[in-house]
Amino acid sequence: MVEMTDFLKILVVDDERDIRDGVERILKRMGYAVLKAGQGEEALEILEKETVDIAILDLKMPGMDGMELHQRIRDMDEKIIVIIITGYATIETAIEAMKQGAYDFIPKPFEPEHLRIVVRRAHEKLRLMAEAKALQAERARTLIDLDMEKSRIRTIVESLPTAVVVTNTSGEVVLMNPAFSRSLDLDVSAVVAGKKLASYVEDEGLCEMVLKLSRGELDAGGEPPSYELLVSDSKYLMARGQPVINENNECMGAVVTFSNITSLKMLDQLKSEFVAKVSHELRSPLSTIHEQLAMVLKETSVHETDVDQHLIERAKEKTHGLISLIGDLLDLSRIEAGGISHNIQSIQVADLLKSIVEFLGIRAQSKDQALSFEPPSGELPLFTADPMALESIFGNLIANAINYSPQGASIIVKAALAGNSIQVQVTDNGFGIAPKYHDQIFERFYRVKDDNTRYITGTGLGLPIVKGLVDSMNGTIKLDSDVGKGATFTVLLPV
Ligand code: ADP
Repeated sequence: MVEMTDFLKILVVDDERDIRDGVERILKRMGYAVLKAGQGEEALEILEKETVDIAILDLKMPGMDGMELHQRIRDMDEKIIVIIITGYATIETAIEAMKQGAYDFIPKPFEPEHLRIVVRRAHEKLRLMAEAKALQAERARTLIDLDMEKSRIRTIVESLPTAVVVTNTSGEVVLMNPAFSRSLDLDVSAVVAGKKLASYVEDEGLCEMVLKLSRGELDAGGEPPSYELLVSDSKYLMARGQPVINENNECMGAVVTFSNITSLKMLDQLKSEFVAKVSHELRSPLSTIHEQLAMVLKETSVHETDVDQHLIERAKEKTHGLISLIGDLLDLSRIEAGGISHNIQSIQVADLLKSIVEFLGIRAQSKDQALSFEPPSGELPLFTADPMALESIFGNLIANAINYSPQGASIIVKAALAGNSIQVQVTDNGFGIAPKYHDQIFERFYRVKDDNTRYITGTGLGLPIVKGLVDSMNGTIKLDSDVGKGATFTVLLPV
């Protein structure tokens, strides 16, 4: 960039030596380097060898005149700024020269200040021209960089082994990679982006999740939302999405990745089948042992010592625990295999709850607990389900409330209609559960072990069974609880 202090070179061409020297003095004092020529040819020779920024030309010179020289200079280097010096008689010629591109003219005779003003202005013009050129170069460079960056990112996305799809705020696919087409068994060469996600994937649940993400309607914080989808007979994919948020915190769309979880699913299935088989095989002999122990206890109580009796009692308790564990495991495998609703009936949920509360009331009484049922204000609509499933859900929740509350606690079971769903709440004022365990307790075998619960026996399978059953009825289960504040489990089952 040319600055005022830059070392500019100015060529002065005038046949009058006094003027040449006078101009040179003024310009040198301004800090410029000055070259001089007494006529046109000499000026051109200098220009062949030197780079000049400004040329000051006298119009009237013997031989080549200023007009012709101006033309020759323009032919040589358009960037040189030409200033014409002229007597009054040739003003018109000067105007002509300006029309042809000369920058300015100075009529003779002139004051030094006039020359200085014109040269400063020419200098300023040079500076602006250099600045504009630099800016233009900068812009071109930025555009090239951007373009390179864009194509680099595109190449990386295309080469990713993981399936990726990017949508805009309307849920239209703006970018997808070949791995995505392959994962969904689409023809890689025929599929092009630009349409709604539903044009590529039929799964409604997935499309709905991605649309919500794209519109910024799903929370961006925490774990990215995920969705499991079945592509073909036995191909399972796990989709994970994240909204794309720009620097102004606006949602621009969503990016979704897909991973193949078929082998995990198969493994899980094998494991469930194995557990089911083993449980099934163990149940009968264990039940037999349990019964035999009960018999032994009954028959030998008179003869055996207290110690023996105590040992047999313990063995009977343990086998009972094992039998209920096996029962839970078999229930879980049935739920996982989707074979739970054999006996679908119309059920009056309030009646069913009342009978469960009555049945478990005996257990509550043994702990001096008040277990009560608060019936709905109006009649609940009939609910269609397998009564065993409902008994299992609410039986487990109420039994837990009894188990995890101290002597004298109170437990309330409420039923109501909430929109199109039946809502059942089981509330206790017992030990409560710290929020950090709220997700984990629904996992298989997870049990919270603290000073209050350490000595309470259980399998850690009750809540996974409850959750599996509620899910299979398209319902939801929610927990409000904290340590020392009791717990409320709310189940919503769509009618
Ligand atoms: P289990 O009762 O056999 O241990 P669950 O799956 O039914 O298994 O429950 C898992 C854990 O959740 C329990 O071990 C207990 O720590 C906790 N829990 C369940 N219900 C309650 C409740 N009403 N109050 C406090 N803790 C509970």
